[in-house]
Amino acid sequence: MKRDVVIIGAGHAGGMTAISLRQQKYQGSITLIGEEDFLPYQRPALSKGFLAGDIEEKRLYLKSQNYFDKNNIIIIRNHKIVAIDRNNKNILLDNEKQIEYEKLVIATGSVVNKLKTSCREADLYYLRTIEDSLKIREKLRNKNKIVIIGAGYIGLEIASIAIKKNLEVTVLELDNQVMSRVVSSEVSDFFQNKHQSEGVEFTFNTSVTDIENQGKQKRIICSDGSVLNTDFVVIGIGIKPNVELAQSSGLECDNGIIVDELGQTSDHHIFAVGDCSNHPNNIFKQRLRLESVQNAVEQAKSIAAGIAGNQKPYQEVPWFWSDQYNIKLQIAGISQHHDRRVIRGYPKEEKFAVFYLKENRLIAIDAINSPREFMAGKKLIEMLSEVPFELISNMDVDLKEIVGQLR
Ligand SMILES: Cc1cc2nc3c(=O)[nH]c(=O)nc-3n(C[C@H](O)[C@H](O)[C@H](O)COP(=O)(O)OP(=O)(O)OC[C@H]3O[C@@H](n4cnc5c(N)ncnc54)[C@H](O)[C@@H]3O)c2cc1C
Repeated sequence: MKRDVVIIGAGHAGGMTAISLRQQKYQGSITLIGEEDFLPYQRPALSKGFLAGDIEEKRLYLKSQNYFDKNNIIIIRNHKIVAIDRNNKNILLDNEKQIEYEKLVIATGSVVNKLKTSCREADLYYLRTIEDSLKIREKLRNKNKIVIIGAGYIGLEIASIAIKKNLEVTVLELDNQVMSRVVSSEVSDFFQNKHQSEGVEFTFNTSVTDIENQGKQKRIICSDGSVLNTDFVVIGIGIKPNVELAQSSGLECDNGIIVDELGQTSDHHIFAVGDCSNHPNNIFKQRLRLESVQNAVEQAKSIAAGIAGNQKPYQEVPWFWSDQYNIKLQIAGISQHHDRRVIRGYPKEEKFAVFYLKENRLIAIDAINSPREFMAGKKLIEMLSEVPFELISNMDVDLKEIVGQLR
């Protein structure tokens, strides 16, 4: 029997596509297939409240099984799709069952980058799933010494929780600063100082040559010849889009599955959504592949609207957040090509924002404990109008008023 919409990957974007289709009053059949044993869930808490033990598993789920049953959304868990046959419009599951589709949505997310070492992979910790988070949480219970490889936002969020649990924490980083891929040097320095004041030790400009087992401990051998002994190692060295299935079925891929503003791939029966997709962004006039909840949710809504016959091209200012200790970092826009940075607020009081301008237009903002600045900044980015930088840095000027004046 042919199914109307089949979604591969029951994560945040896949789950939201199914939910949004019903919200759009889509009447056809919806089948959501995922290789994990869970209902579609949100991952951010896996390195925050859930890892700390403050949030229960059921709070991670996008919706309950009851919701999916009531809305006639079939969920097949614990099964991986191993092939797409585009000519016959069907997919092959790992149990050799075939399912025919009218429309296919690929929502396969990302896979973590792995380190090749002498250790068995099972002896090292990566963080992508509920199961990964539970395993790390268990290790954090003992008063261990932890080494985190990678000073990206996931590594740093884990560090902040490990410190709260009184572990000895060292972060090893290839670059010379933390979160170098996503924030300015001002914000990076701020976070480095914050972590150091809480007790985290950093080793920068260092890559890992190997990790060996030594009894119950791990021996990390670094590129400069130094050796670190630790109880356990968590690796957070980035992710890559999960495009294997799309690529082997001949869909166009280049840093993600290439889609248009409606989420359509090079095959007009097939869509791609979330981390695995690479879409055009009209505000920034460039292609983007984003790894964020906002992207998973908004792109899913756009694709669902299109399938339900209410086309809604995807065009959003990207945004993202991270929680470390008492600090909320909120990032909006793409700062890559800025020609000026303006700081507003009070770094010493842990409340400030960095505004990135290009030819006097605001293109991005990093806000630290500054939600008002973040909201106003996001609106200013959307408006594409020129903003006098003197006004941004002047704390007597309410940014909401600038937004009002420029509207
Ligand atoms: C620890 C952590 C913390 C994060 N924190 C934040 C944050 O603070 N803010 C933020 O904006 N974003 C955060 N993110 C990123 C955000 O969670 C992702 O961008 C989002 O989950 C992407 O949704 P997705 O559906 O594209 O991918 P995923 O949620 O990863 O879902 C993909 C699903 O597809 C399944 N799958 C893959 N291949 C197949 C196959 N062949 N057959 C069947 N199933 C398959 C996978 O098992 C997975 O369940 C975080 C991510 C992690 C891991």
